[in-house]
Amino acid sequence: MLRAAPIPALVPAYAYAMPLPRIYHTEAIVLSRFELGEADRVLTLLTPHDGKLKVIAKGVRRPRSRIGGAVEPFAELHLVLARARTFDVITSASVGHAWLALRERLESTATAWYLAELSERAVEERAFAYPVYALLRRAYQLLDDGMAPGRVARWFEFGLADALGMRPEVERCVECDRVLEQDEQFRWVPMLGGTLCSRHLPPPSEQTPLSLAALKLLRAYRRLDIEAIAGLRLPREVETEVESALRSFIRNVLEREARSLPFLDEVRDHRARVGVMARSADAEVLPTG
Ligand SMILES: [Zn+2]
Repeated sequence: MLRAAPIPALVPAYAYAMPLPRIYHTEAIVLSRFELGEADRVLTLLTPHDGKLKVIAKGVRRPRSRIGGAVEPFAELHLVLARARTFDVITSASVGHAWLALRERLESTATAWYLAELSERAVEERAFAYPVYALLRRAYQLLDDGMAPGRVARWFEFGLADALGMRPEVERCVECDRVLEQDEQFRWVPMLGGTLCSRHLPPPSEQTPLSLAALKLLRAYRRLDIEAIAGLRLPREVETEVESALRSFIRNVLEREARSLPFLDEVRDHRARVGVMARSADAEVLPTG
């Protein structure tokens, strides 16, 4: 008697996939952290290939912790992690790059927190994030090298919007796609993706005019490398205008205001006031004759 061949059991597709190794390595930058229990800390990391990761550093607040000194912000870390049900656990940590000079200046540190916050908002968990990782890494390196924090922040904001596929339009009108001419009036409309020419009415909530000088600086952020931008001598009001334009652009991209901005502005305003006082003190000792 003929017997039907046994029907193979259906094998679910996931069974063919390689199981994820329990232990894995990654480069990472700490974006934020909070304390958990008596001695642990939960860290939000930015990684090149796994995007944003929330991991636990066990016992890290104990004085003799092996990993305690390593897992700080403003450093590129080499981590070994073990997968776990909720948060993966750091099993070992070493510092690849410690941007120590960045931490010595309050404005650089406040800027570094701001850039970390933008990165945290921009990147998904467990998703490829190499462009944002590379951008943040370079920004920290530049701050560490002593570049003006405002220029680094603008370069980062522009690059972040670009990495997210929302590069600000500064060459053509966002409405009619016409190349913008030097002798016309422009408006900055983040909601529409950049610069609007004078032929259209902007939305009532977005009436910000944009000066030609600010447009040129925005174009410099688009076209030039940061090293070239760092060398530009610019009037303060142009930098302020571009700061406001790019901040509102990034707020629109990420759909909220950064919480770290008030602190950054306070630090910077304080520095500016001290600078003015120092300059007026200098002026008093200048010979008057
Ligand atoms: Zn137009």
